[in-house]
Amino acid sequence: MALSRLLPRLQPRPEPVPDPAPEEPAHAVEEAPRLQAVPAPTSAPEPTPQPVPEGALMANVVALANQKGGVAKTTTTLNLGVALRELGHRVLVIDLDPQGNLTMSQGMNPDAIERSMFDVLVHRVPISDIIKTVEVDVAVASIDLAGAELALSALIGRERALEKALVEVRDRYDYVLIDTPPSLGLLTINAFVAADGVIVPVQCEYLSLRGLVQLENTLAMVRENLNPKVHVQGIVPTMYDGRTLHAREAIEILEEHFGDLVYGTRIRKTVRYAEAPVKGSSVLKYDPTGPAAQAYRDLAKEVLDGAQARDDA
Ligand code: ADP
Ligand code: MG
Repeated sequence: MALSRLLPRLQPRPEPVPDPAPEEPAHAVEEAPRLQAVPAPTSAPEPTPQPVPEGALMANVVALANQKGGVAKTTTTLNLGVALRELGHRVLVIDLDPQGNLTMSQGMNPDAIERSMFDVLVHRVPISDIIKTVEVDVAVASIDLAGAELALSALIGRERALEKALVEVRDRYDYVLIDTPPSLGLLTINAFVAADGVIVPVQCEYLSLRGLVQLENTLAMVRENLNPKVHVQGIVPTMYDGRTLHAREAIEILEEHFGDLVYGTRIRKTVRYAEAPVKGSSVLKYDPTGPAAQAYRDLAKEVLDGAQARDDA
């Protein structure tokens, strides 16, 4: 398989070793080359995040990430969220992309929003103050979120701003899905630090597959320095056109390298996914009985099965 040469360094994820959960290395950030734009101060140690009470019912926090744009991160965040809601779960979706597409997809205008995730991350406004209830609860983005990376970079604990903000609401939801921007910058790092797992939407094209190496490298760095539990929990092939050999090959390569991490659900290419946001709705509301909606219901079941398998392990 010639295309598999494109992914020379990818290895299937080894079975997770029961993690001894070492104390977070206080100065580990300094060792991570890409996270050290601002040296961590040696005085004034960062306040320890509030411990999550053992055994409490806590949301499963999932970041939807891929540094490539246009791979269906936002579409997957919303429609997976609505599908989980349909199954009776309490769902919060967080718009962490300054473009505000998730916010727009639920019929809100990011330019007209006064307080958003920017204020949560930078000014420590409680996240419950900026959540709007539409088909699911949405923590909204506004255009100022574009300045969040810069504003955060000067703050102590800049990688943990989202994790801290979520402490307030983690027991109110079963699932928190975070839509991230198309980069591996500080906003996405915040999502990785707050998350239990990462779901990676991947367009079924080989050029899209290459970015996974860089994504996995960033995650490895976050695991080492900031959040030992975060891992890729699943890969969703999106915009799949089964009529093309290329798309089928792309799936083969994905499965060759990631095995069971690749969900069985294929999100097919259809204009329904582009039409729904224009109406400010998920595809499950826009075309409830169509195959586009069904695909995300199938994905939701797979995500729940994965969570169940982990709980049973
Ligand atoms: P990202 O958040 O990764 O940038 P989006 O979810 O915004 O990607 O999707 C990019 C564009 O592709 C949007 O216009 C969206 O409506 C459209 N789209 C998403 N999923 C599909 C699909 N399965 N088939 C066709 N178009 C899609
Ligand atoms: Mg997006």
